[in-house]
Amino acid sequence: MRHITRKNIRLIILTLLGFVCFWALRSSGMKAEPFFQIGALRIPSSTKSGILSGILSLIYILLIFTDYKIGFRIGLGMNIIATVYLLFTMIMSHSIVSMPGMVTNIVSIVTLLTIYSFYSRLSVSNMTDYITKQGNRRSYVKEINEHIEAKKSFTLAYIELEDFKHTNDVYGIQTGDYLIKKTAEKISSILDKKDKMFRITGSKLAILFEPGESPEERLKSVIMSDTIIVPSDDGKTEITCTVNLGAGLVYSHPPYNYTKTASSILRNAETALAATRNLADHKICIFNENMQNTDEKQREAEFLVKEALIHKYFYLVYQPQFTTDDKKLRGFETLIRCRKPDCSIVSPVEFIPAAERSNLIMKIDDFVLQTAMTEFKPVLENDENDIIISINISAKTMSSRDFISRLTKILEETQFPPEKLELEITEYSFSESMETTISNIKQLRDLGVKIALDDFGTGYTSIKTLMTLPINLLKIDKSLIDDIETSQSMRDVVDSVIYMGHVMNCEVISEGVEKEAQLDILREHKCDFIQGFVWGKPIDFEDAKNMCSQEEFGI
Ligand code: C2E
Ligand code: MG
Ligand code: MG
Repeated sequence: MRHITRKNIRLIILTLLGFVCFWALRSSGMKAEPFFQIGALRIPSSTKSGILSGILSLIYILLIFTDYKIGFRIGLGMNIIATVYLLFTMIMSHSIVSMPGMVTNIVSIVTLLTIYSFYSRLSVSNMTDYITKQGNRRSYVKEINEHIEAKKSFTLAYIELEDFKHTNDVYGIQTGDYLIKKTAEKISSILDKKDKMFRITGSKLAILFEPGESPEERLKSVIMSDTIIVPSDDGKTEITCTVNLGAGLVYSHPPYNYTKTASSILRNAETALAATRNLADHKICIFNENMQNTDEKQREAEFLVKEALIHKYFYLVYQPQFTTDDKKLRGFETLIRCRKPDCSIVSPVEFIPAAERSNLIMKIDDFVLQTAMTEFKPVLENDENDIIISINISAKTMSSRDFISRLTKILEETQFPPEKLELEITEYSFSESMETTISNIKQLRDLGVKIALDDFGTGYTSIKTLMTLPINLLKIDKSLIDDIETSQSMRDVVDSVIYMGHVMNCEVISEGVEKEAQLDILREHKCDFIQGFVWGKPIDFEDAKNMCSQEEFGI
């Protein structure tokens, strides 16, 4: 059953009005009186017929504008009935008195056909993506709104071609276009006749599944890593592109439990799509309300970071690191803080993970590098201040192709000595484009920059891989240190890690050391350095600077 929508109501009203006009025309034709009287006003019958025909033509046009397909059919149907009726009257009365009406009807039919063909061509080009020949964003909004208005069940899949940007950047726009076109063709093989596909943005396609065989099952066959051979932009060579797809699904059944708009449904699908990025394979996620909460937190954190970068809410604190044996200052770890306008301080734990999920982390890393090096450059001009400034660098930054050039620029601008700079990376850096990361690390080593492996003991890198990593310092994570005074097995683990670090030709530092007892054990196990509240909390730059000129710290 077709649902009563506002558009359908308009169509019904216009159709009824059309029939009323048609009826009035017919009765004025039958009475054949020269005048039509409204009160004192005498209107010639021919004028009345002209007005009614004009209104009828207007109704036909309004019908097409309301729904060019259904409206056209109704208008054409009414016109044909009127023409047949007039033809019948002329035959029966052996008179051509209805000939003007016939001509008007035929002109109306031609006008209807012209408007219809113009409208359908316009509508197709307005609603079609020229590369994939599927619907575009506008047609997505139209279709979803029609489904919502008609309270129909549907499933929306939002699919992303993960390597699209990379392909565009490296091989050119034409290759990217070819890739998205082939991907759309591949996906259309799993669609039923009623399902529709749309291209929403460059690399993102949406599919509107009508109720039927499980969309999730159908998508599984296309959501897997695949290669597509595409011609290069110059047409001379062929390029093998890897196609990685991820799909976020939203199942929508009335009554819908979220704000019923095309964009909110797409946002939910986008949230589910974002969740697929953490999956190794079968990258399909179905949206649920919990995801929305995570998504809101993510958006809030991203908003805070953007605001903080613009309005300068970020500042740095420095936590001292000491030699374990004689408590000599080794240097400082740079830690970021965010001071909101209400003066509350936000810990990095609240915004760094969110920033890492977006590209904002690169901006944070740049800010920290620039600020720490600018602040400490004058301190290091004094040769007696032989200290190292350690800076946390995210996996995204470390694996980005232009990181070395960005860092070199900051080094030049600040005149900071590279051998006094240490970058802390985590094992996650090696899960994001391992090749670029290792190449970046090698270039950093060539520049004289030191590399520390942070949070060691929380990751999963194999010992074999670890042995090949070009690092200078192993930072044992706080979680391994926490129980060393009470647990013999933890002591053994830490002892082995320190030993392994030394075998790897690295120095070893323990972080998060809070107790004297822990210090004693670490000293006993020949841990080179320590960092922790026991000997120093993070402090502001002025205090850190003063600490540099301090000779003794007193064990
Ligand atoms: P992380 O790099 O492992 O930093 C060490 C964290 O342990 C710091 O927390 C530090 O304040 C804390 N800590 C140090 N000693 C002790 C201790 O004895 N006891 C306890 N309970 N905690 C101790 P913070 O500053 O909250 O930083 C948390 C994490 O946020 C950092 O872990 C790092 O992953 C990230 N982060 C902080 N600053 C930056 C930054 O500038 N850039 C980037 N990319 N990440 C940062
Ligand atoms: Mg760190
Ligand atoms: Mg750490």
